[in-house]
Amino acid sequence: MTAFTIAIDGPAAAGKGTLSKAVAAHFGFAHLDTGLLYRAVGAKTLLGVEPIEAARALTAEDLEVEGLRTPDVAQAASRVAVIADVRSALVDFQRAFAMRAGGAVLDGRDIGTVICPDAKVKLFVTASAEVRAERRYLELSAKGDPSTRAQVLADVQARDARDMGRAEAPLKPAEDAVLIDTSDLSIEAAVAKAIAEINAKAG
Ligand code: C5P
Repeated sequence: MTAFTIAIDGPAAAGKGTLSKAVAAHFGFAHLDTGLLYRAVGAKTLLGVEPIEAARALTAEDLEVEGLRTPDVAQAASRVAVIADVRSALVDFQRAFAMRAGGAVLDGRDIGTVICPDAKVKLFVTASAEVRAERRYLELSAKGDPSTRAQVLADVQARDARDMGRAEAPLKPAEDAVLIDTSDLSIEAAVAKAIAEINAKAG
């Protein structure tokens, strides 16, 4: 089978990760959470490494290290993600993944707009900031993270502002993306909607 790329973009905690994993499993495609690349670079900067240097030296093993899902690393990721040279250092890895035979799902912020503008299917997954913050709060508190609801909402809003407001590859839906608003959708309903869109485009 030739490459079949599915681009799934959207803001933090909209349900992209869950949706992408389910879609990849359904079609038997490989999945890359591109946020992990920025998190891995962000985590290195918290250890004192210079961001562009960290991005250029990034390896697949760096994506496996523990602790990339913490709020501090998320903020560090969105800070390094505004740097053009950091983004360009990460392009080849993502495009090579997208072109692999057998199909690929990539989720992130700029997959449909910048990384894979020719993706067969583009989905933009969103939800209100309050709904996203509540989901993230429940996830974090289940892991024992002490952040309050108000802190999590402030973090989500700060990341939204940085991701949407940056000059380089800002978060926005591609013109040909299908919007999926998960504010009032169950995971099952969102996955069913995504699969129906993909089948329609593949057919
Ligand atoms: O998706 P996740 O929350 O793991 O992403 C962490 C941060 O990495 C985002 O807030 C965003 O700033 C950045 N990012 C990006 N482009 C992507 C994926 C993530 O700028 N394709």
